[in-house]
Amino acid sequence: MLYKIYLKPGKEKPVLAGHPWIFSGAILRVELVESTEDANPFPACVVYSSENKILAMGYYHPTSDIPIRLLDYGMKELPSSNPEEIIQHIIWIIMERIEKSILRRSDEWSGHGGGRLIHGEGDFLPGLFLDAFGKGVVLIIQTRGMETIRQKIISRIQDLLHADFIFEKRSGRFLKKENLPEKNELISGVMPENLFIEEHGLRYFIHLPEGQKTGFYFDQTRNRLLIRKYSSGKRVVDAFSYNGGFGINALAGGAKEVIFLDASSVALETAKRNIEYNIRENHLPDMQVQFIQEDSFRFFREDKTNADLIILDPPKFAHHASEVTAASRGYKDINLLAMKKITSGGIIFTFSCSSAVDMRLFRQIIFAAAKDAGKQVQILHILSQNDDHPISIYHPEGEYLKGLVLRVD
Ligand code: SAH
Repeated sequence: MLYKIYLKPGKEKPVLAGHPWIFSGAILRVELVESTEDANPFPACVVYSSENKILAMGYYHPTSDIPIRLLDYGMKELPSSNPEEIIQHIIWIIMERIEKSILRRSDEWSGHGGGRLIHGEGDFLPGLFLDAFGKGVVLIIQTRGMETIRQKIISRIQDLLHADFIFEKRSGRFLKKENLPEKNELISGVMPENLFIEEHGLRYFIHLPEGQKTGFYFDQTRNRLLIRKYSSGKRVVDAFSYNGGFGINALAGGAKEVIFLDASSVALETAKRNIEYNIRENHLPDMQVQFIQEDSFRFFREDKTNADLIILDPPKFAHHASEVTAASRGYKDINLLAMKKITSGGIIFTFSCSSAVDMRLFRQIIFAAAKDAGKQVQILHILSQNDDHPISIYHPEGEYLKGLVLRVD
């Protein structure tokens, strides 16, 4: 299927700047050039300015929040006069990029390691995500366009990786508008009974069907290592701990006591298993660990003990620009509570993974919390997502994970 899409006058600017998204408000007219018998054809599109100038090529799904996702820009003419060849050309671009992204991440594809192999817009592949877990992979296809070529995508991944298994995951608010079903299943191969990965010398057991996101937050890999530098002898609270990644690294860095705090019992059970295993196998000294299933806001309000190091890595508070005000309040509250709880000279690792809250706003929020807490606050590190989650320079929204390491007096 091939669409010709004309933009309203003046709406070509972001496209000329290489941005991969076009929203419905920018679309003037859609023409179907070629339709196919195929029940599920790839919805290729060529985008034109209101003056009939070719701007870009990509794929189209009318009911999506982002109806047009672009893949190629600035062509003087179409790659062919034959619509079918244009469609195949766009699919070929996708396949080439899959190969490039995967081959560039050979480090993540070794032994028992893990990491992101394909990162959506950050790899110029809107809607497609792939994480490595040892010799297996987890695939997330988030758009209708990518879904129509799923078999091709899966065979290309298999040709390149010969993965032991492919597990597919997909959930979220976007499914209905993309006309996609939820997914949480093994689609090929066999999974080891006890799937685990190793990161910075520590082992994490992974239960893919229940795991959040793809099963592990690889975007925090580098930041988890940094925590060790500030942990020695400290009393630590790992709020929003999930499977315990930050707290375990604090233990590896010599923390004397760690509280793992999460609202989810499944997350805490996984954390417990990971911590017990790593303490035993890595001969970490005998330290005190506690697992508390509770809302972090309430914990900080009610628990009267102090902490020397606090990690705040909450889930996404703003899913959309319209939620930024409420989200900002949430980020401010949790940071204010942590600043009140921390001992003098203590350290807070604070994060936001809402792309609608940019670093500028995040810093303003932390500023407001510091002011209300009446504390002296210094920024020691400015953090972002791991380098296997690249940010396309043309897609600022891709810079979703922001972090600050604060010293609070
Ligand atoms: N730091 C983790 C990832 C955290 S994900 C890592 O490095 O892997 C966010 C976690 O916050 C989830 O596990 C979720 O269950 C938990 N969570 C969400 N809302 C919460 C709340 N109000 N209080 C405590 N935990 C919460």
